Amino acid sequence: MNQQFSLFLSRVVASLLAMVLALSAMGAFLVWVARSVDNEDIRRQGEIAGYALREIRTNLAHNQESSTFWDEAVERTATSGNEEWIDGNLGTWMHSFFGFDEAYVLDGQERPIYAFAEEQVKPAAFFELRRDLLKPYLQALRSKLAAAETPPEGSQEQSIGVTDYVYIAGRPAVVSVKPILSDSGELEQPLSSIRVHVAVQYLDGSIIDRVGQAHVLEDLKFVPSDQQDPRHVSISLSSDGGDVVVAFQWLPFRPGQRLLASLSPVLALVGSVLLVGTLIISSASYRRKLDRLRNDAHIRYLASHDPLTGLLNRSAYERAADEMIEQFSNRQQPDPLAFLFMDLDRFKQVNDILGHQVGDAVLVEFARRTSEILPANAPIYRVGGDEFAALIPNRTRREIEQLCGRLVESLAEPMDIDGRRAFVGVSIGVSMAPYDGTDRAELNRKADVALYHAKTAGRRRFSIFGTQMDDAIQNRAALETELREALRTKAPLSVVYQPKFAGHGGHMLGVEALVRWQHPDRGAISPAQFIPIAEEAGLIADLGLWVLETACRDAIAWPVEHLAVNVSPVQLRAAGFAETVLGTLEKIGFPPDRLELEITETDFAGTEEVGMLNIRTLNAAGIAIAIDDFGTGSSTFERLRNIDFDRIKIDRSFVTSITESEGDAEIVKAMISMAHAKGLKTTAEGVETAEQREILRAFGCDELQGYLLGKPMPPQQLSAILSGAETITP
Ligand code: C2E
Ligand code: CA
Ligand code: CA
Repeated sequence: MNQQFSLFLSRVVASLLAMVLALSAMGAFLVWVARSVDNEDIRRQGEIAGYALREIRTNLAHNQESSTFWDEAVERTATSGNEEWIDGNLGTWMHSFFGFDEAYVLDGQERPIYAFAEEQVKPAAFFELRRDLLKPYLQALRSKLAAAETPPEGSQEQSIGVTDYVYIAGRPAVVSVKPILSDSGELEQPLSSIRVHVAVQYLDGSIIDRVGQAHVLEDLKFVPSDQQDPRHVSISLSSDGGDVVVAFQWLPFRPGQRLLASLSPVLALVGSVLLVGTLIISSASYRRKLDRLRNDAHIRYLASHDPLTGLLNRSAYERAADEMIEQFSNRQQPDPLAFLFMDLDRFKQVNDILGHQVGDAVLVEFARRTSEILPANAPIYRVGGDEFAALIPNRTRREIEQLCGRLVESLAEPMDIDGRRAFVGVSIGVSMAPYDGTDRAELNRKADVALYHAKTAGRRRFSIFGTQMDDAIQNRAALETELREALRTKAPLSVVYQPKFAGHGGHMLGVEALVRWQHPDRGAISPAQFIPIAEEAGLIADLGLWVLETACRDAIAWPVEHLAVNVSPVQLRAAGFAETVLGTLEKIGFPPDRLELEITETDFAGTEEVGMLNIRTLNAAGIAIAIDDFGTGSSTFERLRNIDFDRIKIDRSFVTSITESEGDAEIVKAMISMAHAKGLKTTAEGVETAEQREILRAFGCDELQGYLLGKPMPPQQLSAILSGAETITP
């Protein structure tokens, strides 16, 4: 969850943040560019405004000169009676043509002879309202005239004059004072006779509007300095003396901002698209990465775990083993490391009889019980169907033995699963590093050898690897090859027969066929030793059939009620077994009702449908079924109720102890009476003493078999006995 959140932060939030930052930076840059452009443009607008406004002042003087620097004007203003001319050229005309707001004409003594103001001709005395204000300029002009100054070099003006900014009744204005001079220079003009023209242009009127329009300066106007509008920019013009300052302001044109404003919908769209795009891409990348993480985790989990039990699997086991061996081999004096291989006993039977669901539950329960006993630092690994492994560091051999003992004990307890009871158990093989090696493959092999040893020693036990086991294994491998060879020729094989006698009367009721293997080097090998090898090597069907055929041929003429032949559960589980048996009997002509097949009771738990069908088919043909070694397995009459059988063979262990412990005598007695109650016959195996025989007789046992009454013997010997040539002396 935490990882997911930080991933979300790193993928989505970080990408969005980066994009927002990038967009903001870009936005800031655009604003900065726009502002720089605007500032540059406003500076330029200021220059234009300053130029245009100053031009009003120069234009005023220049326009004024068009009428004041003129011979006719000198003449017309010299005499009276020219009022109309003066008005037409120096007053109203100037107003209407140049836009002058006020115009005055003064004589040589500065007495007003003409006045124009407020859009009309005024009495000349109107000038007196302006006299004080204009006095300095008139004086300045007189001094210039007295000094016979000429217009400055490069100036457009042809006559000298004085201009300046002034405030007239609070209104800003430009004033220009010019002498009325002869342009031809032919008229004599003494200083005291020079008349003066005064022009006034207000700077708050329509002329400013026109300047604004001409130069695209929006809302250009004069403002009193305390009324500045913050959105506007301003420019000030100061009088030559510096004491009059006229400020103008206008709404500046901001091209950058204008551009930004017009682009902003597009920019906003592009920004949104980029943000949404980033969101989509980054969240897709986040999801992809998350999926990948999840997948990786899932794949890692699957790669190292068994989905059914949730236990670590074989590859996890191999990795762990390698790592632990690695750590271990780096040390001078390594601590011991135990390799435990565990194999569920009878798991296949549980699976077959109780179903796979119960089988699965058994595995889970196995995992639970085992985990409770194993140390916390030693997880269990499921390395095969019903095979498990554990790696236990730092335990002595003694401690490992105790641990294995507890495991075996715990797994011997039946498991109740969904109301059904499963009897399993565990066989354990152990190898220990460094004593048994420091290589994974070798330690695995030795644990496997020890496991095999535990299983062949009767299951539900553990064994710790010892070198003699290796010998046993090699011995076994050799035996298998030799058995295969023996089966090919059958020459070293033979069948012996052990007679079975009636409990009452003592006559021979039947014989049991027992296979023998005469090994050229090893001598006689017990079937108890080679039958399991034949079963595992897939040779038992062949061997069993050969014994059956041989026994039938041998016994066909014998005057005994029945011939007993042992059948391995492996044979019984093979489809078509019953038919093979019946075919053999038919071939030889052996009557089926004289044949009895002995099946080991312990293996009935593993008898699946096929086995049941074989038994039923054999039974229906008249062949009797005997339960061999009765009483040794966990099964009872109760568990055998589904099987059609005719006889129980009470295991030798009961017979042996029948005289030693009263408890077993009671058990044997109960077995016999229960069998009789169910209509079954009874045989006691391994009768070795007369005392045993007497007790069994007293219990009503139907048939007795054992060394006391007759050992297994070759067919010729049995034939001789049956023909009366030889006798058995119990
Ligand atoms: P089993 O079916 O329980 O056979 C009886 C075994 O007990 C035989 O050992 C027999 O020799 C031995 N025995 C009989 N009476 C006495 C006695 O009074 N005292 C003692 N100590 N032992 C006695 P054997 O012949 O070594 O056979 C061992 C087992 O091998 C048999 O046990 C049977 O399970 C299996 N077997 C033998 N022949 C065959 C065969 O042809 N097919 C199959 N599938 N299994 C066979
Ligand atoms: Ca038997
Ligand atoms: Ca037996």
